[in-house]
Amino acid sequence: MPVRNRFAELHDEIAGWRQDFHEHPELQFDVHRTAGIVADKLREFGCDEVVTGIGKTGVVGLIKGKGEGSRCIGLRADMDALPIHEDTGVPYASKTPGTMHACGHDGHTAMLLGAAKYLAETRNFTGSVALIFQPAEEGGGGGREMVNDGMMDRFGIDEVYGMHNIPGRALGEFAIRSGAFYAATGLFEVEIHGRGGHAAYPHDTVDPIIAASQMVMGLQTIVSRNIDPMQQVVVSVTSIESVTTAHNVVPESVLIKGTTRVMSDQSADITEERFRQIAGSTAEAYGCRAVIRYERNYPGVFNSEAETDFAAQAAKAVSGRCETAQMTMWGEDFSFLLGERPGAYIHLGIGENAELHQPQYNFNDEAIPFGCSWFVEIAESRLAKEG
Ligand SMILES: [Zn+2]
Ligand SMILES: [Zn+2]
Repeated sequence: MPVRNRFAELHDEIAGWRQDFHEHPELQFDVHRTAGIVADKLREFGCDEVVTGIGKTGVVGLIKGKGEGSRCIGLRADMDALPIHEDTGVPYASKTPGTMHACGHDGHTAMLLGAAKYLAETRNFTGSVALIFQPAEEGGGGGREMVNDGMMDRFGIDEVYGMHNIPGRALGEFAIRSGAFYAATGLFEVEIHGRGGHAAYPHDTVDPIIAASQMVMGLQTIVSRNIDPMQQVVVSVTSIESVTTAHNVVPESVLIKGTTRVMSDQSADITEERFRQIAGSTAEAYGCRAVIRYERNYPGVFNSEAETDFAAQAAKAVSGRCETAQMTMWGEDFSFLLGERPGAYIHLGIGENAELHQPQYNFNDEAIPFGCSWFVEIAESRLAKEG
């Protein structure tokens, strides 16, 4: 079945929700307004159960089908925005300076709400559908919090599906891949402590700037010398901060920060081990002391094989277009849900647009019927009969 006609009728309404979310973006777990509206709408649609406060500010709505059945399909959207100052010029631009929906989670939330409205009206399935609205996808691990809160067992969820909009891919074209899809992410910080002093007397100081400079270059050898060239790994130092701003003062300490991205557990182990060795021993070589914090943050997104096929079939049914996606070094905390249950994550093209996380990005409302129809299609096809 192609894009559902009902979504043509609902399009303006769903776009209205999306633009309202866009105008009022919220960060991390602080998505109280958005989660409140989501919960109110789910109740208004007639969901059989609406539970708030899962994983701090997450919301789950449960809709039971007309047919008897015990299986439950989880459909997930994220609700949080980013600390970026909007530069789109749209009439519904962010009213909160320095915060905007630059990743299109306003679109994801609106599309899943649209699907919820349709599924609550029609209920042409057996068992139940759990609509999962999570906070803090952008670094906070809202998916992890909802899983740790027992969401999967509480609603008896058997499979999980999620979607991200992709600028630059043709409008309505889907893309997915089986197996490793998104990278596992790591975060690091290294404090390098030396001894400050007058820049004209460097021999009386222990210069943390020199140690930091060597460290940044040394860390590049993890990818070039330690990782199998056939594997994908990124080590990016993104910030170097010293406590002085003067031209003539050697600082006491320097802080470097960054992120790592890997596609396998083996690469994750090698990367962390070499990171700690290089950071620690480089600081020592220049007479400094390093305090190293290295955290493995999001696991990789790994799509299970059968569910990838179901997701691709649903995509083809909706728009006739589903490509094989490339692996990406992005992180995505839908991986915590995939760690608990089989499932799949899919990309939906929204046409030409600014890139994700850019101040000029704005979700394309023309993508709404495709996203809503895919959510509905996957629920109805996976719950067509007990099995
Ligand atoms: Zn993002
Ligand atoms: Zn995103």
